[in-house]
Amino acid sequence: MPVLNDRADSSMPGGEDNSVMIGSADFGLPGGEKIRGLLHKLSEGYHPSEQEWRFLIAGEYDRNLLYTKADEMRRKQYGTDIYIRGLIEISSYCKNDCLYCGIRRSNSHAQRYRLSKEDILSCCEQGYGLGFRTFVLQGGEDAYYTTKQVAGIVQSIKERYPDCAVTLSLGERERTDYEVWYKAGADRYLLRHETASKEHYQKLHPPGITYEHRMQCLRDLKQIGYQTGCGFMVGSPFQGTEELIADMKFLQEFRPHMVGIGPFIPHYDTPFREYAQGSLTQTLTMIALTRLVLPKTLIPATTALGTIHPQGRELGLQAGANVVMPNLSPPAVRGQYSLYDNKRCTGDEAAEGLEELKQCVAAIGYQIVVDKGDSRMKTDV
Ligand code: SAH
Repeated sequence: MPVLNDRADSSMPGGEDNSVMIGSADFGLPGGEKIRGLLHKLSEGYHPSEQEWRFLIAGEYDRNLLYTKADEMRRKQYGTDIYIRGLIEISSYCKNDCLYCGIRRSNSHAQRYRLSKEDILSCCEQGYGLGFRTFVLQGGEDAYYTTKQVAGIVQSIKERYPDCAVTLSLGERERTDYEVWYKAGADRYLLRHETASKEHYQKLHPPGITYEHRMQCLRDLKQIGYQTGCGFMVGSPFQGTEELIADMKFLQEFRPHMVGIGPFIPHYDTPFREYAQGSLTQTLTMIALTRLVLPKTLIPATTALGTIHPQGRELGLQAGANVVMPNLSPPAVRGQYSLYDNKRCTGDEAAEGLEELKQCVAAIGYQIVVDKGDSRMKTDV
């Protein structure tokens, strides 16, 4: 298998490694031996100490050892199959004001649109023809779509495509909404926790949007029976190694079916416009550690990762990710769902570019499959 070796952050446009490096000397063992032992224990369900986590996340060791171990684990659990999800961005209206996000309410420059049920169904029709068997409906928190309307959309998709999974990613709603949508046929829900540190969460969100509520939503979703996805940005403002340790501990405890991990990328119309983007190496490190801690979880190589480095997505797959989510929104609105600067939505990030994507994936030894791609994790609530 050809391995992409372009892993140095210095090679990425405008990127620097902003991670804190911690020496391996503290462990009194040559870096290689220590890390091999630790990675092996991690893949067997071990809960590392704070100090060990600090080393795994920010220590100075050969990251290729980590990526290789994660890739081995992915092959053991899922082989070389890569699942694809058609991402339909249904609305760029949002009532929230998350400080990092380009479609936040106070961004008066954001272009707003909503897709109708017919628009969404025609995206699915196109996607089905291309080989997608999962449709992800994502959007800002837009009260325009009532509980009933969303249920109606989910039901119609499931009626027309009974062999497909529907994933929702519509933010925080009432538990009863989640229940109605689950009964209507929704299979999965993505709600990134964004950060597992309450203090950090408050620095990324305005007052009124609480850490407790987001975590409650995640617990509700899992209890209701959804295959539940959480996740976080890497390199978001005020994030350091301690916050990333909290994220890993949270993943080990919550055991989600899916984990979305991507670098933070500033958006010029948000209060975080001046902050640096997350680093490639740190993002790959977190993906690989997640694969070792949760062998059966589904991990996408995110669009954000593909945005900060030309081979970001392939590198993500080689570090343990096994899902890609090409954009299936109507081309006319794609540019308007602008979460961060330069978000990629053309070429092989677009559903129509699937052939190109297949070739990229095949070149590194994996294959795109036509499959619902359910998580193999057991639901333990
Ligand atoms: N309203 C939905 C969907 C949010 S957008 C929800 O609340 O879940 C999906 C994800 O994009 C977010 O969860 C966030 O992690 C990510 N995102 C938003 N702004 C970003 C930025 N500037 N850089 C990188 N990722 C970002």
